[in-house]
Parts: sequence; C-alpha cells; structure tokens
Amino acid sequence: MNANHPETSPWAVSIAQVASRPGQSKSVDADFPAPSGIGDEVISIKEGAPVHVCGSFDSIVDGLVLTASVTAPVTAECSRCLKPLNANHTITVTAFFPYAPDVHDQRRKGGHGEEEVDIIAGEEEGDDTYPLAGNNTFADIEALLRDNLVESLPLKPLCRPDCQGLCPQCGEDLNEHPDHHHEVSDIRWSALESLKAQLEAEAGDDK
Ligand SMILES: [Zn+2]
Ligand SMILES: [Zn+2]
Repeated sequence: MNANHPETSPWAVSIAQVASRPGQSKSVDADFPAPSGIGDEVISIKEGAPVHVCGSFDSIVDGLVLTASVTAPVTAECSRCLKPLNANHTITVTAFFPYAPDVHDQRRKGGHGEEEVDIIAGEEEGDDTYPLAGNNTFADIEALLRDNLVESLPLKPLCRPDCQGLCPQCGEDLNEHPDHHHEVSDIRWSALESLKAQLEAEAGDDK
C-alpha cells in the first residue's frame, strides 16, 4: 500500500466518518481483490480474486474494531484423491485498528498526550491489530485479509471429510470404486500353482 495515498489502495476503506467519536458504526459489504501470496500449489486464493467482506467497523475510545465475515474463492486439490476443488472459504475476522496516537491526542485529547501514549504502548499488539492510514481516515485491510486467509487455509484440503483417496497400488479413485481392491491372495495362489506345476513336472521327469 502507498502510505502517502492510502485512498488509492484497493483495500482502503474510508472510516473518517466513524473515527470521530466512540459508539459509531460503519458497515462494510463489498468485494476486495485477494492480496498476493495466499496459499501454495496445493491450496490457494488467486491474487485479485473477489474476496467478499461483510461486517462493520465500530468505533471505541482508542480505535476501530472490525468484525466481518470474509468469503474467498479457494482453488485447491484434495490431498487424498487429488480432485480439483473450487469452493468458497468463509471465515470470521475480528481486528483492531488503533488510532495513531499523535493525531488522536492532538485532535481529541489536547494536552493529555503523554498518558494516552503510555496506555497504547502498553497494549499487546497482536496479529489482529493494524494501523490506520491517512491520519486515521482510512483502514487498509490488505494485510488483515492476507494474514487471516493464509492462517485459515487447511494444510490438507479434502474434497469431503471421509474421502477414501486413491488406491496406493494403481491410483484408482476409491470414492468412485468403493469395492476396488487387488486380488493379492490370487497372485500368491498363482505363484503356488506354478510352483506346484513345476514340482509335478520335476517329479514326472524322475519317473
Ligand atoms: Zn478427495
Ligand atoms: Zn488399485
């Protein structure tokens, strides 16, 4: 994102109207392009794919809380049967966008900046805390989307929880052919048969 022009980011959400005082709410219901670098060759969300975000920014005293349901199209292959999977992946995200302390203090607290800064600095800034941009007028949700989607993708995607996978011997899809099996005993039996025939032949030669 461009820090100087946050409004030009496709992930920027204008929150100026709710950042003025606590108790305000701004709903979000829009598609955003999927950020790059989500997933691997087994499971991924294609860069630029529409990621639907539906929720709201709610202002509290020292920042905004975003609570949203995020739905993204996932391209994957089943880790057992290798079938291509195209499914929507929906997660619920909660993130905190603290007001930048200096701007916040200057605008709302006048001379009480020091105390406020101490409180903010003492807070634990977890993975789900993101800075506001443009003097607290924009929330850029690119990093939030990437972090939450990357974290939530299953490592071993399955076409269904009880996918039977592929036959380890011939690669047959065991979901489509539940009765598929190899006649292992027959192979052994035929080996015995040929041995028996060989022994009989040898016995016959001896006579
Ligand atoms: Zn499968
Ligand atoms: Zn087989």
